[in-house]
Amino acid sequence: MARPYPVPNATIPYWRTELHELDSHRSTPELPQKQDIVIIGAGFAGAALAKYLLEDDSPSSSVKPSITILEAREACSGATGRNGGHLRPDLFVSLAARMQEAGLKAANSVALFEVANEKAVAALVAEENIACDLQQVTTADTFVDQAEAAKIKKLWDVMVRLDCPTLKEVMYHGPEDAERVTGVKDAKVAFTYPAHTVWPYKLVMHILAGAVRAGVNLQTHTPVYEVSGAPDGEGYWALSTSRGVVRAKKVVLATNAYTSGLLPEYDDAIYPARGTVCRVVPKTQAEVKLGSCAVEIQSPASVDCYYGTRPDGSLVIGGAKTTFNDRRNLWYRNYDDSTLIEPAVPYFPAWPGKALAGWEGKEVQMDRVWTGIMGYSADEAPHVGPVSSKPGLYICAGFNGHGMPNVLLCAKGLAKMIKEGCPFSQTGVPACYETGAERLRKISKRNAAPAINRARADIFLKHSYGS
Ligand SMILES: Cc1cc2nc3c(=O)[nH]c(=O)nc-3n(C[C@H](O)[C@H](O)[C@H](O)COP(=O)(O)OP(=O)(O)OC[C@H]3O[C@@H](n4cnc5c(N)ncnc54)[C@H](O)[C@@H]3O)c2cc1C
Repeated sequence: MARPYPVPNATIPYWRTELHELDSHRSTPELPQKQDIVIIGAGFAGAALAKYLLEDDSPSSSVKPSITILEAREACSGATGRNGGHLRPDLFVSLAARMQEAGLKAANSVALFEVANEKAVAALVAEENIACDLQQVTTADTFVDQAEAAKIKKLWDVMVRLDCPTLKEVMYHGPEDAERVTGVKDAKVAFTYPAHTVWPYKLVMHILAGAVRAGVNLQTHTPVYEVSGAPDGEGYWALSTSRGVVRAKKVVLATNAYTSGLLPEYDDAIYPARGTVCRVVPKTQAEVKLGSCAVEIQSPASVDCYYGTRPDGSLVIGGAKTTFNDRRNLWYRNYDDSTLIEPAVPYFPAWPGKALAGWEGKEVQMDRVWTGIMGYSADEAPHVGPVSSKPGLYICAGFNGHGMPNVLLCAKGLAKMIKEGCPFSQTGVPACYETGAERLRKISKRNAAPAINRARADIFLKHSYGS
């Protein structure tokens, strides 16, 4: 099977219709030959890493490392520039799924970390006055299928008896008021909680621009084809690119879905999965009850569609997986974001009329539809930390359809490891995100096992916005 690389001529997402001046930037006409640190990938993870690597924590550290970012296409043209725009910690559904797979402690640590990320993003936006349409919203996970609703209610009843700090933010709505509260037709059960929506490209380009101002050399349109198998005698890794070789003491792969293109040992652990999103504009006024909402049909892989509202009254809708889930070649290990997922295209504009109360018969105009490539993590958790047996190589990738409430503090934690040499346990990143040879071995072993052994839990809800 071909290894994943960013493809040319990607579909144009709504988020990339107002381009930043650094979109195709090259800080220097030639590539630098030797750097202290090279980051591969200029998405949310790459930009955040650059920011934190340059941030002065100690006033005595006057010498800043030389840092270059190598990006295959335009800046923020990967998953970050083509996602659903939700900054939405998962306070219940994923918490419950992870609790069943990995135990309560791990589940709570991830949910709390996601809340901390949401707060960190909101604080950064406020501090730096970032114009990225960050909106505080009430979001919902809404279940319309009777049997699923009954299962999830049972799970809720179990979870509320456990010590789960993030559940305090979640409100349960039963059959009597789920539709009224969410505006989702035939909603049987819903869970509402606070979240945000955001223009992800504008957020990340602001962060990237700050890093460039602070001295980072940004090189867009520079795909890396290969990372050397080992460092040379001076301890430098050689990165072969379309424009020559760059050598670096430390290399961070912020390559998300495309990670195994450069590090084949991650092929089982992080694989590309294509998703699709659109923006629709109602032709006449129509009410949405919530700022964002996911509508679930059945589990696993249960999301029908999810939407986020824009300040102009339009909706960004993603998902539609029910239209193409069984045609695996359309999404599984598919890294072609230059073409659409055709079955989803007619489904999107019809969806509000079908799913949202008061939208029946309302005409909506499909403004734009696009695809994007998620980095699915086989064991659901991102991979953060040093790459095993490759001193000086690091990874910050595998964010599923759920990177917005994860990336910032993963990058901050990893930057601390790289700058200060601190152990993973002192980064504040959940333990289950730590990458390593043992974790990769476990994943490969599990992948090789019969599928029947995988999702054993009675109620298993795989939840990702991109699905
Ligand atoms: C359709 C879709 C909907 C989603 N919806 C949401 C949502 O609503 N909320 C949410 O939280 N998350 C969502 N996600 C997931 C979220 O967008 C990602 O988890 C997050 O953006 C990951 O950021 P990143 O920087 O790791 O990856 P990316 O943004 O993909 O950045 C990786 C970069 O690395 C570059 N790169 C890769 N390989 C190479 C190479 N060999 N050489 C040079 N450069 C390379 C790529 O070109 C890319 O720019 C969605 C994703 C998709 C695709």
